Amino acid sequence: MDMKSADIEKIVRQVLESMGSSSAPAPKAAGGAVPATSRVAMLTEKEHFEIQEYPIPELGDDDVLVKVEGCGVCGTDAHEFKRDPFSLIPVVLGHEGTGEIVKMGKNVKKDSAGKPLAVGDKVVTCMIFKDNPDITMFDLNKQNVGGADVYGLLPDDDKHLNGWFSDYILVRGGSTIFNVSDLDLDSRILIEPCAVLIHAVERAKTTGILRFNSRVVVQGCGPIGLICIAVLRTMGIENLVAVDGEAKRLEFAKMMGASATVNFKDHKGIEALTGAVQDAFGGYLADFAFQCTGSPVAHANIYKFIRNGGGLCELGFFINGGDATINPHFDICSKEITTVGSWVYTLRDYATTFDFLKRAKGIGLPLEKLITHKYPLEQINEALVTNLKMEGLKIAIVNQ
Ligand SMILES: [Zn+2]
Repeated sequence: MDMKSADIEKIVRQVLESMGSSSAPAPKAAGGAVPATSRVAMLTEKEHFEIQEYPIPELGDDDVLVKVEGCGVCGTDAHEFKRDPFSLIPVVLGHEGTGEIVKMGKNVKKDSAGKPLAVGDKVVTCMIFKDNPDITMFDLNKQNVGGADVYGLLPDDDKHLNGWFSDYILVRGGSTIFNVSDLDLDSRILIEPCAVLIHAVERAKTTGILRFNSRVVVQGCGPIGLICIAVLRTMGIENLVAVDGEAKRLEFAKMMGASATVNFKDHKGIEALTGAVQDAFGGYLADFAFQCTGSPVAHANIYKFIRNGGGLCELGFFINGGDATINPHFDICSKEITTVGSWVYTLRDYATTFDFLKRAKGIGLPLEKLITHKYPLEQINEALVTNLKMEGLKIAIVNQ
């Protein structure tokens, strides 16, 4: 064999090129590969998405074009699908989305946390600063996303690519965008709901009651309660009791790090239920409680599980679920309970969530199992129906 060094170089180059095209997860510089049109799932009337196709518009200097890989279905999407409470129809929904940058305006260099951005990077969006364009990473903790404009909840306009239930989304200048290339697709789809819990636990910490050795009860084991348990577990809180009415969800709570579970259907009446929670803590009431259901009765019940001087974080009533009846003397005053409410998240919580997802993986919490159903875009109506039937936990639209 007499191989000249030039030949070897050529072979090495060929091998490297073939590796690049077959095994690279994120092909960079896909600029030329952008199609002329994109499909979107347009909610054209209540309970009906129509797959429509629109031209991909020219990008402004501050805009980013993202090829959508997946998007979680949120309770908010389900409410809008069923009843249009936000009067958004026609609208492209989907705000828990993620995808790959395929094209960028010439001014775009960094994400909202100051990380470099390039074609091929995996990103998520958070909110759009319309009224406050001067906000920086340093004020992120001051801004609660509630009330702000978010992709997937924007009224339709002449660009149409406003939501993540689509093939492409046009992220306009002034939006919050984060480079999350170091997270896998399932983790990226879970960022938004996880940020809700990062915020709730931050709110809980302001009471000064939550400690490493606290006895914590989490009521409600839907995705929010389950993620709550995972966040507490990654913080090093180990004495966690989950309360729910479904055995399957309680099993899941154990996988997420709950040390014990209580099925409220096994205990008739609030005294018996309180006794069961107390037994689960070895004879003690909880130091702190997280209320993660939208049930007024559950809200009224939870005070009974908390010791004198304990704390409560109420985060289950994301939307108005009606009035709850409590006894202010017995439930709050005489027990000196410190309560905090939590709603949505701040931008800093969003950035904190990326690290939480890595830590959860590091200690073996199977967060990705929360995504129980995956549908392609063309089956979005079925995905929403499944969500409304409360089947499974997290439902996601996944492209390809
Ligand atoms: Zn959501």
